[in-house]
Amino acid sequence: MHNKKPFPWHYFIKTIRTRIILVILSTILTYVVCQTYDQNQGKGVFIVTIILIILAIIQGYFRIVPFRNLLNRIDSVQVKLPHNKKLNLIYQKDEWVLIQEMLKLTEKYINEQQQALSAQEKRSHTILESIDDPIILVDSFLNCKHYNSNFKSKFIKDKKTKVYMDEKLWKVFDDDKILDLFQWTKEKKENARIKGYEIDGDYYDISITPIIDANNQNLGILGIFHTVTESKLTEKMRVDFVANVSHEIRTPLTSIKGFAQLLLAQKDICPKELITPLERINTNTERLKDLFDNLLKLSVIESRYDIDLEEMNLSSLLNQVKSNMKAKYPSKKFEIEVPPNLNVLGDKKLLEHVFTNLLDNSIKYNDKAEGKIIIANKEDEKFSTIILNDNGPGIKGEELKRIFERFYRIQGQSTKAIEGTGLGLSIVKHIVNKHQGQISVESEVGNGTTFIIQLPIKKYTQG
Ligand code: ADP
Repeated sequence: MHNKKPFPWHYFIKTIRTRIILVILSTILTYVVCQTYDQNQGKGVFIVTIILIILAIIQGYFRIVPFRNLLNRIDSVQVKLPHNKKLNLIYQKDEWVLIQEMLKLTEKYINEQQQALSAQEKRSHTILESIDDPIILVDSFLNCKHYNSNFKSKFIKDKKTKVYMDEKLWKVFDDDKILDLFQWTKEKKENARIKGYEIDGDYYDISITPIIDANNQNLGILGIFHTVTESKLTEKMRVDFVANVSHEIRTPLTSIKGFAQLLLAQKDICPKELITPLERINTNTERLKDLFDNLLKLSVIESRYDIDLEEMNLSSLLNQVKSNMKAKYPSKKFEIEVPPNLNVLGDKKLLEHVFTNLLDNSIKYNDKAEGKIIIANKEDEKFSTIILNDNGPGIKGEELKRIFERFYRIQGQSTKAIEGTGLGLSIVKHIVNKHQGQISVESEVGNGTTFIIQLPIKKYTQG
């Protein structure tokens, strides 16, 4: 389609036609005048005529050059228009008609495009309005471009004015964290998500998405504020209830345990038949206390909507947990390999819970003479993956699917005697999820268990 078009002969002939006619007419006139005055200059007149005709043709050719370039450009444009079929035919006949037709088509095309654009705008507007969540679209300079009425009613205080369209985003929001999130998305050109974020008493799952073109240029940013207030409040009530019950029960439990221990300390004056029941009371209150401690931990973690992630050295935390384990199990023989220079983005206290639980399980469920736990890691752009492998008894396939459930404990000869509440791994999973990370497990009976934990290394990102 972009081949050079044939020479525009029609226009060329039209251009030189008048000149050649003028040259021939002036030749005839000159010849007649010469004849009248008896001058026989026929040959000279003929030569001059030929020269003039050649000059007319050359001049005509040079006048056609810019026109020819123009035609070529028109041609390259017109193939992109949707109604270009008849233009090639016209091209063979009359170039001026071609230009005229081309202008008509362009005009028609522009009108159609304008109609399509306004229809598209109407459709987008209807879609935005029909969504219950507040939505805003800003351009790449963070100027507000579109928002729906939900956004307006929730976040724009001055309801009457329209001045916020095209206004800077920071004039709409005074929430620094959300503004940071938009700025971060603008710079990194990556999705950002934040869960259960509170703005003016309401809770939102916020998702900020950059709109990127084929040349990786930022065209704008879309912010969706999914309202989760209702579910958040119900969840909060449930979590508060568990926290209150656990707290209230711990006080009488401590007292029962205290009295049992007091009586056990007076073994010589205590009737013999009471010793065993008292010992049972003592161990069972201890177990109950553990259970409520774990329940409290779980509800505290659940009630935290947001955690502060900071860059931290996981290797030193793992070494600290390792020495805690050595102190907790002095009679067990085990080795823990910790990789050096392991850095993640996380909450130190919560990650300590995670690795204490995992390592504690790997040690207490291991029935080998010498336990071996190897911690390795690999890193990609977004996540640091920590792989914790032990040489323990392993877990069966059907059990493996359920070990992260609350209160789930594997019922087997080997684990029966080992104390636990069945809450450890569900706490671990909750904490990892709070970090926007993931945890999975692989295991084979007799061949140990491997936990794979993905933790983010960049702020806000979520897959
Ligand atoms: P518990 O308090 O019983 O340890 P968890 O939630 O921590 O509760 O673990 C759930 C169950 O998963 C445990 O009862 C145990 O049988 C099994 N388990 C967890 N970690 C391991 C492991 N490293 N090796 C073998 N079994 C494990």
